[in-house]
Amino acid sequence: MDTYMVITAEGGDTEEAVKSVSREISRLESVLSRTIDTSSVSRLNTEGSAVLDEDTSSLLAAALTYSADTNGAFDVTIAPLVELWGITSDDPRVPSQEEIDALLPLVGGEHVHMDDAVTLDTGCAVDLGGIAKGYASQQVADILRAHGVTSAVVSLGGNVYVCGGKPDGTPWNVGIQDPAGSGYAAMVSLTDRFAVTSGGYQRYFEAEDGTVYRHILDPRTGRPADSDLLSVTIISDDGTAADAYSTALYVMGEQEAVSFWRAHGGFELILITADGRLLYTPGLSDAITKPEDCAYDFQLLTAQPAA
Ligand code: AMP
Ligand code: MG
Repeated sequence: MDTYMVITAEGGDTEEAVKSVSREISRLESVLSRTIDTSSVSRLNTEGSAVLDEDTSSLLAAALTYSADTNGAFDVTIAPLVELWGITSDDPRVPSQEEIDALLPLVGGEHVHMDDAVTLDTGCAVDLGGIAKGYASQQVADILRAHGVTSAVVSLGGNVYVCGGKPDGTPWNVGIQDPAGSGYAAMVSLTDRFAVTSGGYQRYFEAEDGTVYRHILDPRTGRPADSDLLSVTIISDDGTAADAYSTALYVMGEQEAVSFWRAHGGFELILITADGRLLYTPGLSDAITKPEDCAYDFQLLTAQPAA
């Protein structure tokens, strides 16, 4: 999945658990990756219609519901534009507005038809990169539990899962990376949770004129999201949803992201804004701490907008 996985586990059959996790991640990558020619996703994208394995078809179905939920801010049919920009590829480039306009009509969940086989409208393609790591983390959580692991941390490129607490029973401390620096912007103490972060700082390329193009695209414009956020962290019991929402809320920007949380609920949220604020939801009040050298202005979000 083009990232590192770090796993620490205790209690139960840890050795078998870790082996099994490693096998599962490789297996999921081999079906879900857009850049592996033989994957289910590649087969669907090149042939336009394919009978998919269980994981790919259930994840694609889930992705379509997250797309509807987020009013299209998360949209796996963004793939043709991901390919056009190539931001995470070896040769990224800035396309012309004409090239972007030509592909924008291919974006939208209505172009995916799910039956026994999945069929895409002509020219359309899907990219599960915004949700695959969260789904993989969710599967890892199940494997760890099935092996009786009582205490573990799994980190898969911005997706953290903590199983139980630390071996001494106290919660794990998860560091939220400072998107503008090298240290942590916040620490959050968590047990049995997923914490998924999306941010423009993770993957980008810099054009010759110095403009930085970031890897999360706005499906409405077909261009890198012009977000007023540096990062979005979703903390939830559901790793897959947390991954979809972290990408979506980054695209939405501060105001729409906060409104989405207020209307939707069911997860905790940390937003780091480009103007130096760190916003967090009330459910994190007892869990979040500000590192000593951290310059962000911590602000508590309220369930209701201020009058
Ligand atoms: P994440 O790191 O989870 O935020 O996912 C970012 C990745 O998802 C990108 O590298 C693209 O492969 C893909 N992607 C980019 N923009 C979107 C979007 N608006 N909706 C869904 N997937 C996207
Ligand atoms: Mg994501």
